[in-house]
Amino acid sequence: MDMSAVARSNSSRLVVVLSLIALLVLGSTFGVIYYALAGLASRSNQIDDELTAQAARAALRALDQRVRDINSEYSRADHISNPHQGISVFELRIADLCSSTRLGVNFDMFFLMNENMRNLVGCIDGRRMMQSPTEVLGRALAPIVRDVSATLNRNPLRSGFMLTKFGPAAISIGPAWWSANELGSGTPAILVIGKKVDTESVKRMSRDFSITGLMLVSEAAVNPAAAIREPDGRIIGGLGWSPRRPGNRALSQFLPTVYASFMFLTVAFAGMVAAVWLAFRAVHDSNKKTAHAAVHDPLTGLHNRAALVGMLDSLSCTEGRDAAIIFIDLDGFKEINDFYGHEMGDRLLKGFGAGLASLVGEQGGLVARVGGDEFVVLITGSSVDATAQRLASAAISLSTRPLRIGPHTVKVAASVGVASSNLNEITGEELLRRADIAMYEAKRRGGSSIAVYSQDIDQEMKRRLQMAEDMRNGLKTGEFWVACQPIVDASDLKPVAMEILARWTRADGTMVAPVEFIRVAEEHGLIDDIGKFVLEETCAIGKLHPELSLNVNVSTLQMRSLSFLQLVDSTLMRYSIKPDRLQIEMSESRLVLDGSILISVIEGLKARGIRLILDDFGTGYASIAYLRQFQFDALKLDRSLCAEIGRSVNALTMAQGMILVAKAAGLNIVAEGIENKEQANLLKLAGCTHFQGYLFGPPRPPARASLAKTHLLSALQ
Ligand code: C2E
Ligand code: MG
Ligand code: MG
Repeated sequence: MDMSAVARSNSSRLVVVLSLIALLVLGSTFGVIYYALAGLASRSNQIDDELTAQAARAALRALDQRVRDINSEYSRADHISNPHQGISVFELRIADLCSSTRLGVNFDMFFLMNENMRNLVGCIDGRRMMQSPTEVLGRALAPIVRDVSATLNRNPLRSGFMLTKFGPAAISIGPAWWSANELGSGTPAILVIGKKVDTESVKRMSRDFSITGLMLVSEAAVNPAAAIREPDGRIIGGLGWSPRRPGNRALSQFLPTVYASFMFLTVAFAGMVAAVWLAFRAVHDSNKKTAHAAVHDPLTGLHNRAALVGMLDSLSCTEGRDAAIIFIDLDGFKEINDFYGHEMGDRLLKGFGAGLASLVGEQGGLVARVGGDEFVVLITGSSVDATAQRLASAAISLSTRPLRIGPHTVKVAASVGVASSNLNEITGEELLRRADIAMYEAKRRGGSSIAVYSQDIDQEMKRRLQMAEDMRNGLKTGEFWVACQPIVDASDLKPVAMEILARWTRADGTMVAPVEFIRVAEEHGLIDDIGKFVLEETCAIGKLHPELSLNVNVSTLQMRSLSFLQLVDSTLMRYSIKPDRLQIEMSESRLVLDGSILISVIEGLKARGIRLILDDFGTGYASIAYLRQFQFDALKLDRSLCAEIGRSVNALTMAQGMILVAKAAGLNIVAEGIENKEQANLLKLAGCTHFQGYLFGPPRPPARASLAKTHLLSALQ
């Protein structure tokens, strides 16, 4: 598990723990709120019950008071003062009382009795009642009646609830003074007024005291707070009601809101946690991507230069590590990129990168892409030299493997530089520089090869670097010039063309051989500047010699871009030189068969009427395929071959063979480096059509070039 994965799992754990804590806090907060609300609800229920009980008690008291008040009202002697239609006052009152019991609004029973509890008259619900009051009203009556009778002089009035024949009833007992005369004893009868606590009266109480669901309950089920008691305290029944439980109602009203809030907060919290988590992940991923991008090449996914340098730095800090670097540069990649487009180029790089990574994967090492088509493999450990050699060869084989990209099959090669050392002796940076130099050496040797770093290579590289630097300055300060050498027709030895050759005389007067500086110019990107200069000079000189064709040497590196055609067009036009006077010499040793742009450029040149000459023919690469592919007009037998003519029979035989082939292809054949008549004669016999060499004139500065004509004519005499 890597560090970022560990950090990520720790952070995940932290987020989970924090979420749990927050959920716990949220949950307990809601628990407390719920508990408080439930408590409040229960207390409200209790209070409501108490209030209802109070109201029930008040209702009973009111009933008691009512029968008491009525009794009091009926006790007065003068209640009805006038006899009516012959009916006695006594009778009228009895009738009045009786009819009131029928209505039953305030009372529904009355009894008139003497102190001996003998019923004089009684009425219940409007019906006369002859039964003994004790029988109807129960045992609690007697002591009260006695008490009232005993205290008549104080006009006593008693009331209370009693368990009657009809159930509990509010009973009031007092003297009925109006009956004293009637009874003749001067002593009033005892008036008992009663109101049954029945369903009707309970309904009225319920209405009057706003007690919902008020009902009469038996003594067994009664709530002591609303009990109906006889004067001696015995419970004879009570009032009950269906509890309203307002707390519960309020709670059930509030709870959905509380639940909804809880749900909302939980969801919001979960959302927040998710958002924090996602944000965290996004930051983490972006950091990871940034960290990955900082050390990886986006195209191939391999490490980049920064990663390589970092690794080299850390290796430099490790005691006594042997390390080797294999520096790979693809040959001919630029052409593929230019011709097939960058997409194809990218696919080639990806394919090669993946192949290289799998090659190295078996050995173990760091693979990086450090430039456009430059790859580096860093290996460490024991026997790095042997491993490096093996990898270098494998990399070349990998590069030359034909790669199918869409309809195309492309093939490149690779120049590989190898450097190894103990990192106690040199820095990682130096090791990389050495591998780079070795790679340049491999490239200089013509590519598709491996060069192992050595001090000599390093010295040579430094010398060439210095030369490139001097050349850059020399081009600015006019140290470059051109020499012209005539080319004659083999039949009459008349000059028909001249070859324009680049020259470099350093400021100190020393001359540098073109073979050397042209190479360095090609290696260090100066060939375009030199080529431009020489073409310019060629046209300027050509203007002075309108009868001669102009042979100019052009490096294939100059022809890797279509802009070369524009350069040729503009320069010819500026000096009014016809394109068919220009003959471009291309060295056989530098031709790249895969150069697709090169082919386009050559076709462009041919289309303009410019002729092509294959230079240095016979230097080892002689191939008829070249002649066909590039549609050359002529070839130049290399001077090394011509120099042997007259000395070696073999050379002549070889030359004859080449000439035959060229002739068959309809080409002119120029023999260069002709220094004596024998060479000229033999090569003329062999079929050469043109000659060039010291015999006909060495390369000279332009001013003296025209002298060649007279000089040559005498040369062959
Ligand atoms: P090249 O194109 O084959 O040029 C002919 C070379 O043969 C010239 O050498 C010339 O001086 C030499 N030469 C001519 N006649 C004789 C002879 O009779 N005997 C001997 N020993 N040598 C003779 P130079 O000028 O040193 O050029 C060497 C090469 O440098 C050229 O070979 C050409 O490949 C390259 N070069 C010269 N100028 C240019 C240039 O402007 N552009 C490019 N790309 N290459 C150039
Ligand atoms: Mg030449
Ligand atoms: Mg040549």
